[in-house]
Amino acid sequence: MAMFLSPSSLQMSTDVLVLGAGGAGLRAALEAARGGAKVTVVSKLGSDEPTCTVAAWGGLTYCPEDQRDELFRQVVETGGFLNNQRLVEAFVRDTPERIRELAELGVPLEVLDGADRAGRLGLVKIPGQGRTTGLALTRPLRAAAAALGVEFLDHLLVTSLVKRGGRVSGALAVHLKDGVLVGLSAKAVIVATGGGACLYGRTDNPAGTTADGIAAAYNAGADVIDMECISFFFPEARLGELFAVRAAPDAGFLGVGAAHYFLGGIRIDERAQTTLPGLFAAGEATGGLFGAARLGGTAMAEMLVFGAIAGREAAAYAAQRRRPPAISARRLEDESRVLDTLCSDGEPPACSFTAELADIMWRYCGTMKTAPTLRQAALALGELGRRLGPVATSLPELRQAVESLHLFRVAQLIVTATELRQETRGCFWRLDYPTPDNDNGLANLVLRRTRSGITPERCPVVMTRLQTPTPPRIGAGCFSYLP
Ligand SMILES: Cc1cc2nc3c(=O)[nH]c(=O)nc-3n(C[C@H](O)[C@H](O)[C@H](O)COP(=O)(O)OP(=O)(O)OC[C@H]3O[C@@H](n4cnc5c(N)ncnc54)[C@H](O)[C@@H]3O)c2cc1C
Repeated sequence: MAMFLSPSSLQMSTDVLVLGAGGAGLRAALEAARGGAKVTVVSKLGSDEPTCTVAAWGGLTYCPEDQRDELFRQVVETGGFLNNQRLVEAFVRDTPERIRELAELGVPLEVLDGADRAGRLGLVKIPGQGRTTGLALTRPLRAAAAALGVEFLDHLLVTSLVKRGGRVSGALAVHLKDGVLVGLSAKAVIVATGGGACLYGRTDNPAGTTADGIAAAYNAGADVIDMECISFFFPEARLGELFAVRAAPDAGFLGVGAAHYFLGGIRIDERAQTTLPGLFAAGEATGGLFGAARLGGTAMAEMLVFGAIAGREAAAYAAQRRRPPAISARRLEDESRVLDTLCSDGEPPACSFTAELADIMWRYCGTMKTAPTLRQAALALGELGRRLGPVATSLPELRQAVESLHLFRVAQLIVTATELRQETRGCFWRLDYPTPDNDNGLANLVLRRTRSGITPERCPVVMTRLQTPTPPRIGAGCFSYLP
């Protein structure tokens, strides 16, 4: 056992365990507590440290109630008709109320471009500039949840989910201050751990956005969806260049831009249930709502809408179930052993697994890709995977090693799905297939873990209301609202 890991472990138990304390996790915790559940929220960061929610610019979808149909249309048209329209139904139903109630919670908002006076779709914004704007949202949400008795456990790094009899019954985590392994058993678990844009050499996301929950859910057997769909932020002035590269691919890849948002993630239904009983999910960790691209402001609206749905549904689920027993000593020992393989009591190795991984993904599977670059990505990942060994000589390095393992898993998922989507749609760009292909492309790529490895399934898109696809919008980053 590495010196910095504690030889003892700790067990805790709750009704609803929320993984993540960004906007989705906090909103879920608040709703689950309102539903009468004992709620515990776990975060690998301290309360005010920068999550995506904290670092966000702060724009949220403003939707007058009579504009819901219009929002539905714009979300689906922007998503290139890959959206699960049952999720979009829930999104447009709840967005006006989730935004309106922020004022009651004490979150300051300003309306942009007079959208309220014009009675049309637009943005409201949390006032402020810079990387801490979102604190004006997270602090009041956290305070409201704490007032209802929600327990917050910070600096706990979740390493994997625990199942019992086919149901998710908790999670395992390492305390980043003292190295104690913690077994958290729960009647229901909500994954709200955010996206994974730190997988790419260039990103505008804060450190720690490493797709931990997506990897842990996939590893436990949950379906993931649309993993190939990632949006890349480009400065307005450089967008023209991006399109020029598309027109003349020989010009090479651009050195600008940054990975911004995971459109894909854990597959959920309109009640925020994943494909694993007992496991719910919300926020950027999930996929299916936005399809191939999204409108500006919808990510924060989504984390509030589906956070609340996940909290309500998880509390209702928990009310029907008994608390599972403490996590077995054997399961704890197994996890301890896995963590120990990442630890070294000697000198830290010269190579950086994380940096190499980020470089591979940016170079070969970034904004624009082709079959040859994807083959390169798969080969390089295979080679890198064989070199992963003991890398951590301290708890912060152990955190990085665990995050790298999660990112590595997610990289495999993204490359697999990207190879299968042979077209260009929304933010998903293949230079060798530069146009949308509605004959073959109008399907969701679902990946699940089976004995033979990553197993893809092409699933028909859920279309409840809009069934005649319009020509997909193509671009990077977030799209503006249609006039
Ligand atoms: C620079 C920037 C600007 C943006 N601006 C906007 C905007 O104006 N409007 C908009 O709609 N969207 C915007 N977005 C996107 C939006 O901010 C995110 O999609 C959204 O905040 C995600 O919320 P979340 O709760 O799902 O995840 P996050 O806010 O990322 O929170 C994730 C939580 O999970 C915890 N966590 C992660 N892994 C683990 C683990 N292994 N163990 C324990 N805890 C873990 C973290 O500590 C954190 O508490 C922006 C994003 C960025 C990066």
